[in-house]
Amino acid sequence: MSRIAYVNGQYVPHKDAAVHVEDRGYQFADGVYEVCEVWQGNVVDMPRHFDRLGRSLRELRIDWPMSRAAVEFVIREVVRRNRVRNGMVYIQVTRGVARRDHFFPTDDVAPSIVVTARSTSPAAAEEAASKGISVITYPENRWPRVDIKTVALLPNVLAKQEARERGSKEAWYVDVNGMVTEGGSTNAWIVSKDGVLLTRPAEGGILRGITRAVVLDLIAREGLAFEERAFSVDEAKQAREAFVTAASTLVMPVVRIDDTVVGNGHPGSTATRLRELFHTATDFMAV
Ligand code: PLP
Repeated sequence: MSRIAYVNGQYVPHKDAAVHVEDRGYQFADGVYEVCEVWQGNVVDMPRHFDRLGRSLRELRIDWPMSRAAVEFVIREVVRRNRVRNGMVYIQVTRGVARRDHFFPTDDVAPSIVVTARSTSPAAAEEAASKGISVITYPENRWPRVDIKTVALLPNVLAKQEARERGSKEAWYVDVNGMVTEGGSTNAWIVSKDGVLLTRPAEGGILRGITRAVVLDLIAREGLAFEERAFSVDEAKQAREAFVTAASTLVMPVVRIDDTVVGNGHPGSTATRLRELFHTATDFMAV
């Protein structure tokens, strides 16, 4: 079955799906995106992703390309047409196509929208989670507006590529004070050596992850010891457990930071439990 993408009003074969060379997403990274998990034929946490998309658009003064209901319809349709039961759906909105010029184009330029979906293997994800991943630490070098989910991901690309070349899956950014901010495409967490779950406040130089928000709900529901505060690389290396969260990985245990083994080198019980419970705390939109 060939894949289908939605591009500016049309469902097209994925191999032919294209935007104009003067799309401002291509020219200036002038756009935003969302990635949602598809789980057992449902789009997970659509309302939260839509709220964040709306905020990202507002912060950059880009209009919604069409109504929220219409975008929701397209998301369903793309997931359905690609027969994705488990996987990801990707939504990208840019300021649109206009003659290359840094200034915003005039009001009659419509934002561009692209929606794609692809299947992933739940078995492969569980296999990865049963082993855990390693991360490297990497100096924070992104612009301060990382709270906006823009497609300007070059620093993240470079950090994650370095991680890969050093045999790791993720890079944890570290600020000038030696505190971990977040991963290249994930939020960062530890269980301190005293058994307290820690993650950096969303106001402090990170993206407000939707998966992070679900895990916060789970922590409250399960009554786990938790503090929302920044932690240092040293604290993370001495932690009982570490893990990352994102719609693409859910709760993924971290078993090594640089050359330091975390805990006993195996996925921790807290991360494993939060992963098991994850979909008991999410919202579902049936496709
Ligand atoms: N932080 C960054 C920089 C990300 O790119 C992502 C996801 O892409 C996340 C955190 C996790 O966000 P979410 O849980 O909404 O996927």
